[in-house]
Amino acid sequence: MNCDEARDLMHPLLDGELDAKHARAVEVHAEGCTGCAAELSSLRDLQKTIFAAQLCYPAPESLRLRIERALPRPAIRPSRREWLQGFALGAGLSAIAASGVFVAVLREDKESPILSDIVSAHLRALEPDHLTDVPSSDRHSVKPWFNGKVDAAPPVPDLSAEGFALIGGRLDAIGGKMVAAIVYKKRAHIINLFVAPGAAGERLPAIEKAQGFNVRHWTEDGVSLFAISDLNAAELADFAAAFSAAAAQTGK
Ligand SMILES: [Zn+2]
Repeated sequence: MNCDEARDLMHPLLDGELDAKHARAVEVHAEGCTGCAAELSSLRDLQKTIFAAQLCYPAPESLRLRIERALPRPAIRPSRREWLQGFALGAGLSAIAASGVFVAVLREDKESPILSDIVSAHLRALEPDHLTDVPSSDRHSVKPWFNGKVDAAPPVPDLSAEGFALIGGRLDAIGGKMVAAIVYKKRAHIINLFVAPGAAGERLPAIEKAQGFNVRHWTEDGVSLFAISDLNAAELADFAAAFSAAAAQTGK
């Protein structure tokens, strides 16, 4: 084995990918070659440093949802060919999603993770066919749909008199938790309202600007509410006030 061959096999050796014969051959070469011994030693040090830094992040729940939403709905009885195509598509999406995780991790350093989840969920919802799981302007259809799907079914008041039309509801993930998303619209502006159990966003200010959207946050009755939209801040505040008042008045 010469130096070039040995160096080609050093990464696979350290990653445990070589069979015993090739692993031994690289080690024997390095024992008799100062340059390769130094190279192997420095790669070992690098590997130790990387392991010690614990650069592995668990994927957020929102990623699983995003992948599931992006995948085609399974056919009832897929042929082998369809199944294989589905697999290839799934693998491609996983690769795309994996690169997305990296971006999300970098971005969350600057932005609160909750805020980042809210913006991601809003953007995803604005993609075609992702806005609602239960498209309806009738609160009596939307509210019961959440029963049994989230810890506490959220209030779904009719705000049409205040100029906010109900579009429907959806499940989404914020802060690793499944939450209810209620969708309203004012003129052409979609408002996603996320209702999360607990004080998930207690460190968020009441109004925040994130990636061009206004995000309004408040809590009531032990739930956290986040409204996000490209509506201006004043109109989003009107929405929050109208929602709160109507939810309290109708007893949800
Ligand atoms: Zn060598």
